[in-house]
Amino acid sequence: MPKFLFRCAKVAARRFARRSAAFRAAAAAAVVLSLSLTACGGDASGNGGDDKPVVLTTFTVLADIARNVAGDKLTVESITKAGAEIHGYEPTPGDIRKASKADLILDNGLNLEAWFAQFVEGLDVPHAVVSEGVEAMSISEDSYQGKPNPHAWMSPLNVQIYVDNMVKAFTELDPDNADVFKANGDAYKAQLQAVQDEMKASLAGVPENQRALVTCEGAFSYLARDAGLREVYIWAVNAEQQATPQQITRAIEYVKANQVPAVFCESTVSDAPMQQVVGATGTKFGGVLYVDSLSEADGPVPTYLDLIRHDADLITKALAGASAGATAATKP
Ligand SMILES: [Zn+2]
Repeated sequence: MPKFLFRCAKVAARRFARRSAAFRAAAAAAVVLSLSLTACGGDASGNGGDDKPVVLTTFTVLADIARNVAGDKLTVESITKAGAEIHGYEPTPGDIRKASKADLILDNGLNLEAWFAQFVEGLDVPHAVVSEGVEAMSISEDSYQGKPNPHAWMSPLNVQIYVDNMVKAFTELDPDNADVFKANGDAYKAQLQAVQDEMKASLAGVPENQRALVTCEGAFSYLARDAGLREVYIWAVNAEQQATPQQITRAIEYVKANQVPAVFCESTVSDAPMQQVVGATGTKFGGVLYVDSLSEADGPVPTYLDLIRHDADLITKALAGASAGATAATKP
């Protein structure tokens, strides 16, 4: 059998193995016929005739990390698009159709994707939780108190564990390429260590009395821990009940009491509540941070490594540059 046909047959067999015996018996002839007629050109993944196994991730950050591990051996796509709000996302019928044809689905876990359990319930597709083995930090405020903070990827060292989980899941999916996934994973883990070191070195430049990171969502606990910043937020996790008057008042009081030089908000939510804090305190709006989504390819953070570099740079400039900014502002 030609190699590409053999490969097609393997992909089909894998999908097949997940079906019931009755379904397999009934569909066997059809698949054989379809394989011989199309030579896999009409791949069920709908990815343009490419016979690579298809991996779907729940959001863009995971897709980029997964692509680094998969190399050119798997097709990786994100269910949610760049800029989407991911916690309370509502999957479309198109998402469900797409997922039903995938070979593997990766989710973050730690209660990040509130919609995910129901989403995969009716699907006959394996999934892997990439945060497995990460030591989760707890949320300390609001109704989420004591629950794990899901944003574990905001520590690049946690992402090294994500990579290990991806290597394992991809190897189960496509054992022939086990060595490739392992080598890709090791190379990417070295880049993660480098970006972690860069991030810490950059944020070490923020003076001790200005080391408070005030954001909309409490999504930066892991980064703040690694970089030695105090984390303050308006709400704990993006949800319907966010930015209550009490939460905004709490942030205003903190900013005033600690003379916080700059505050931030994230790309996937409205910054209106934080602008209220700015208006009430006279602090500076430090800019848009990325956490729950990458930007589009031509935006500031097309990759996860860019996301960490961008956020570290923005926070450092806004907090450490505050004194210089204040001096400049007094000039005529
Ligand atoms: Zn979030």
